Amino acid sequence: MRTGNSNLPLIWDLIDRKTEIFTELSDRVWETPETCYMEKLSAAAHREMLEAQGFAITENVADIPTALIGEAGKGGPIIAFLGEYDALAGLSQKAGLTGHEPIVAGANGHGCGHNLLGSASLLAATALKDWLEETGTPGRVRYYGCPAEEGGAAKAFMVRAGAFEDVDIAISWHPSNFAGVQRETSLANCRIDFSFTGRAAHAAAVPELGRSALDAVELMNVGVNYMREHMPSDCRIHYAVLDAGGISPNVVQAYAKVRYVVRAPELPGLLSLIERVKKVAEGAALMTETKVESTILAGVSNLIVNTPLMDVMQDVWDSIGPPPFEEEDRAFAEKIRATLTPQDISASWNQERLEERDVPLADFILPPHNENRQMGGSTDVGDVSWVVPTVQAYGATLAVGTQLHTWQVVAQGKSPLAHKGMISAAKAMAATGLAAIESEQLREAAWADLKKRRKGQVYTSPIPPGAEPPVAAMTVK
Ligand SMILES: [Zn+2]
Repeated sequence: MRTGNSNLPLIWDLIDRKTEIFTELSDRVWETPETCYMEKLSAAAHREMLEAQGFAITENVADIPTALIGEAGKGGPIIAFLGEYDALAGLSQKAGLTGHEPIVAGANGHGCGHNLLGSASLLAATALKDWLEETGTPGRVRYYGCPAEEGGAAKAFMVRAGAFEDVDIAISWHPSNFAGVQRETSLANCRIDFSFTGRAAHAAAVPELGRSALDAVELMNVGVNYMREHMPSDCRIHYAVLDAGGISPNVVQAYAKVRYVVRAPELPGLLSLIERVKKVAEGAALMTETKVESTILAGVSNLIVNTPLMDVMQDVWDSIGPPPFEEEDRAFAEKIRATLTPQDISASWNQERLEERDVPLADFILPPHNENRQMGGSTDVGDVSWVVPTVQAYGATLAVGTQLHTWQVVAQGKSPLAHKGMISAAKAMAATGLAAIESEQLREAAWADLKKRRKGQVYTSPIPPGAEPPVAAMTVK
């Protein structure tokens, strides 16, 4: 490999020594699926592991009870590993089955594989910490336990609180169909509520005295729909009417509320698009003689990739190779594949621009590419990537064709194939972190690349100064 690092076998050996306990951690989190800011048991499990491995722990990061940081080492650069452990609602599913069967109908499930995500990131951090100790090398390792990735934007709040201020390099990964380097950017997004207040009146007797908030919502939506022709084609705007003002047509609706999600490829474009949507809302209020108030609920920035770090991680993956899947893994993946549609399977290959092959599990590492590709969605890793050079891996933890946020992900979440994919991902991350500890040149190149990609723009949090993480609203007392 290009980095020619003779220390890599030791870092991988350090991972192999702790495979069992981190597999147990992943399974334990799988068994207690908790959503958005309610990850009490999952965060506690990560906390216990950090303590057992000798990390110093900071809790309640950014005033979020389920966010924590573990730190180890002295002096030198700071390498951050980002972990997640939140689940999704409605995806309860028994492990190891190849048919849809919830444990508890309607309950939560790990449909995005974040049980594996958190555990592998913490394992990578632990291995690098152990390596620093064994070799007496200066350097600090941090594990960031980040809750509420699904819709809660916790990392954006953690960035705003300054939790990443002194970090040199950030590393993470995501469970996937394939193993390799994540090279796609993601969209910046923002969630805003617009509340209109008018005046109620008898709609037949004195309509002239009424001012309809529902009219304002309708006019706002029409205005935004007209705006679509004059906005960048890669931006997205969606809305949902949360409150149409009641069920009585004979009452002029005094109050109505609509929620908007605005997405754009980059943060500055997002902020200017939000301003235009706000103007349309004000226009609708002016037309209807109502008042409008807007509240930004949450937002995340677009993801900035990093060429020097992606190059190093690619080299690392090429020397690790695909996870050591066995016959039983392929047989299980084959059964999972039988539950997928041909479209599901094609979509996975197409996403990576790969020619479709008839294999149940990825037996290769994703080849590098330099195209500017974008994934459809958004992630709060985006905010970290604006303030620290960030690189992410994909780990092959799923039968090829499995789409995220489905019962099939939950069914595979505790399987030996997922465990193998998770351990491989931990190795890729740990070795990339080690390269960053050892090479000042790499760190400088990574920072130079980030500065170039920011094109002189300063990071502006998509979350307004007053907004707090919606922890209280989510926590069951
Ligand atoms: Zn996810």
